[in-house]
Amino acid sequence: MTQDTAPLAATDLPEGAAAQRKVFIKTYGCQMNVYDSGRMSDALAADGYVTTEDMDDADLVLLNTCHIREKAAEKVYSALGRLRETKKARAAEGREFMIGVAGCVAQAEGDEIARREPAVDVVIGPQTYHRLPQALRRARTGERVVDTEYALEDKFEHLPDPTKVKGRVRSVTAFLTVQEGCDKFCTFCVVPYTRGSEVSRPLAQIVSEAEKLVADGVREITLLGQNVNAWHGVDGTGQAIGLGELLYRLAEIRGLARLRYTTSHPRDMDDRLIEAHRDLKMLMPYLHLPVQAGSDRILKAMNRRHKASEYIALVERIRAARPDIALSGDFIVGFPGETEADFQATMDLVATVGYAQAYSFKYSTRPGTPGADLPGHVAEEVKVERLARLQELLLKQQQNFSRSLIGREIDLLLEKPGRMPGQLIGRSPWLQSVNVDANDSKIGDIINVRITAAGPNSLFAEVAEG
Ligand code: SF4
Repeated sequence: MTQDTAPLAATDLPEGAAAQRKVFIKTYGCQMNVYDSGRMSDALAADGYVTTEDMDDADLVLLNTCHIREKAAEKVYSALGRLRETKKARAAEGREFMIGVAGCVAQAEGDEIARREPAVDVVIGPQTYHRLPQALRRARTGERVVDTEYALEDKFEHLPDPTKVKGRVRSVTAFLTVQEGCDKFCTFCVVPYTRGSEVSRPLAQIVSEAEKLVADGVREITLLGQNVNAWHGVDGTGQAIGLGELLYRLAEIRGLARLRYTTSHPRDMDDRLIEAHRDLKMLMPYLHLPVQAGSDRILKAMNRRHKASEYIALVERIRAARPDIALSGDFIVGFPGETEADFQATMDLVATVGYAQAYSFKYSTRPGTPGADLPGHVAEEVKVERLARLQELLLKQQQNFSRSLIGREIDLLLEKPGRMPGQLIGRSPWLQSVNVDANDSKIGDIINVRITAAGPNSLFAEVAEG
């Protein structure tokens, strides 16, 4: 370790400095990482850290990384190179500046990050965030800490009580993790390697945390898991239950107004879960159900283990149970071997299903996944052109869905103040952001509004009479 990248010892800090330390967390990727960033700031809050939105103001920068994007690790190393320069400048001023790498790249690369980038103080995996304060203390003694090892049974043991975190401003919506990891092994995906096998959180823990959140003012809970509908548990009588039954249990919590869950795999949408969509009005009519491609040949190569026709039939069953449900999806174009006919099958599937929201990407190789070794990689310019065509169609569907709401009355959960005086921003049942002038209402209320206009990223509404 060179002098200019050596961490300051704890004794270099003025007395009481721990109480004023600030952490900046840069979050990449999925909702699970957004949730995990919250977990890390909760763990650090107990140690006197406050979060800052300004990296220049921070004493600790954590990169909560995602391995999904192309050359994800390289992008992390280049971000670390920039942070190394900040660290040098801070060292010259005699100020502490620590650097941590968390998330899926940390889990996948581990020691390699510490080896390649000497400015990094801590590398910490998604299952060990509760040990972050200890890791930082160890790092302050000069140790380079790589903490990514965990026992499966520990996975949910150390989540901080979300209602007891100092300094956390509680929103009226909250994520609640119920499941982590994945056993599906889609051939393009690193999650089974970085997050490990599927593990479900016990029912009692979930219900207890949901009750605490509601007592703390939360009105809407989104159950979170990489493969959330693979969640399984046992009820009080020892009977095996799945996510559908869990939703019925949570729906009994007094004061809870809305439930959601994400992200689902089509193969785990069982009858009970579809019944929950039919029976539970508080289960919002919006479902993220990735399909990735519309060609059976490509779905097989992706190891998705279902056909396009089975996905479409599933969507029909869900829509029959809950006619107002809107779907969102994930799509990958240019998977190895994808022909123009395969791509056209994806376009056809999108046209058949109709999506209110979607996330679409060009295929990119993730080292270590089986997809990386498949023959027939698609030329970049072909991927670019196909993605543009797909996104044009998806955007049109999204706009049509938003416009179809104009003139309709909907329930709106008010979440935060808007930019203008008297304006509040709420969330529609379909997860859209809605601006409304609602002087007589407060955050946490669910009010009836009439949609008046649809912008590219949000809707506008007025309070409906009565
Ligand atoms: S279902 Fe497939 S894409 Fe989703 S996390 Fe598991 S392996 Fe990845």
